[in-house]
Amino acid sequence: MMTVASDPLPFESALPDIAWPAPVSPRGMAVLSLLFQLERTERWPPELLRDFQRRQLERLVAHAASHVPYYRDRLMPLAGVEGEAFWQAWQRLPLLTRADVQGAGDDLLSRSIPEGHGELAEFFTSGSTGRPVRALRTELAQLYWNAVTVRDHLWHGRDLSGKLAAIRDSTPGKALYPQGRRLERWGFSTAEIFATGPCVTLNILTATEDQLAWLVRERPDYLITHPTILDRLLRASARTGTKPDGLKQILTISEVLPPGLRELCRQVWGLSIADTYSSREIGYLALQCPQAEHYHLQSETVLVEILDERGRPCAPGEVGRVVATPLHNLAMPLLRYELGDYAEVGEACGCGRGLPVVRRILGRRQNMLRLPDGGERWPLLSSSDIGRLLALTPIRRYQFVQTHLDRLEVRLETARQLDDDEARQVIEWTRAKFGAGLRIELTFPDVLAPTATGKFEDFVCLL
Ligand SMILES: [Zn+2]
Repeated sequence: MMTVASDPLPFESALPDIAWPAPVSPRGMAVLSLLFQLERTERWPPELLRDFQRRQLERLVAHAASHVPYYRDRLMPLAGVEGEAFWQAWQRLPLLTRADVQGAGDDLLSRSIPEGHGELAEFFTSGSTGRPVRALRTELAQLYWNAVTVRDHLWHGRDLSGKLAAIRDSTPGKALYPQGRRLERWGFSTAEIFATGPCVTLNILTATEDQLAWLVRERPDYLITHPTILDRLLRASARTGTKPDGLKQILTISEVLPPGLRELCRQVWGLSIADTYSSREIGYLALQCPQAEHYHLQSETVLVEILDERGRPCAPGEVGRVVATPLHNLAMPLLRYELGDYAEVGEACGCGRGLPVVRRILGRRQNMLRLPDGGERWPLLSSSDIGRLLALTPIRRYQFVQTHLDRLEVRLETARQLDDDEARQVIEWTRAKFGAGLRIELTFPDVLAPTATGKFEDFVCLL
């Protein structure tokens, strides 16, 4: 089939005799019909979004109470409650933790799936305990996922006829250097809607220098990868001068985007990052606004609550725990699932979208600084903070580790040894950022290691 190479949205006709406008496949039509609605609902005021979220939640709750053993008694307080009273009862519903999910096992699976929700797909989530949890998702829930994926492409104005490079697969023996793997299309979310350009993939365990060489050779338009991988690529690129040509934008997924990485990406490759916030069990929680570096919650597919220590919704500027309820997966309803992440609520966005704003995602509690008075706070390092630190000395990589209540270890990977004056300036910067009363110790490991889960944290509390 012919597609115009320069068409940024190359719709794929399902009928060989019709070239344009394209009648896409029934599955593609289903995603497009959701997108048509999403393009309108994203402009709705927050109150209207909230009201429609409640309507969907009421149905989800009714289904869970009738067909999911785990919820049979737990949802009694919500039975028959409507309107604002529903929200009040909802906020008293206990949070569902990962340990609860592991403990509940098959009791969280629905005994009956209504017609029209399609086949069930099984997947596993691992998490920090390393103990996998079996989960189920309906085909319909997957359709909503696909719609949000396409929404992300549209928001960020991507040319879908371009070439996508993905460094995200860790399956042993798959997509190995030097060839990687070549696919005709970007992936399942855009399939049967767009005749996208090709996708090339490389195993995430490939050495950084080889990843860079592969990108230079492949000349993709877009790169999708984890922040940890991007950070290593940018540093290798800055060190060696090797730089991939033709890249238009970087897409980051799967980990919390550390402060400073956007700036580094702009400096080294001259490119912006479009980040997404998702989890395997929940799906998408938020997409980055196309006009700002904060995130919009995906309120049409998930209810996200950001709660303070007392379980009340946080106001703009406050940081709280992230609690999510996917709205459409009736195979395994997760009601008020606590992800373990923290996020800061943002002010309404100037872009015209009514979808609530998350200013930043902060990761896990172990990334909080413990204070001598028993409190905790987030070590909020802005991009300009990091910029000032990097300007002091030739630092390649840094990590702050709170080892005692009054002691902070600053681990630095540097291009050369620091002189006394530079070391003093780094200590002063650290005290100014983290607290005047702290004892600061600089250490210089050869290589800074990621955590056991392969992710890199730039602040860790060991207490
Ligand atoms: Zn916005």
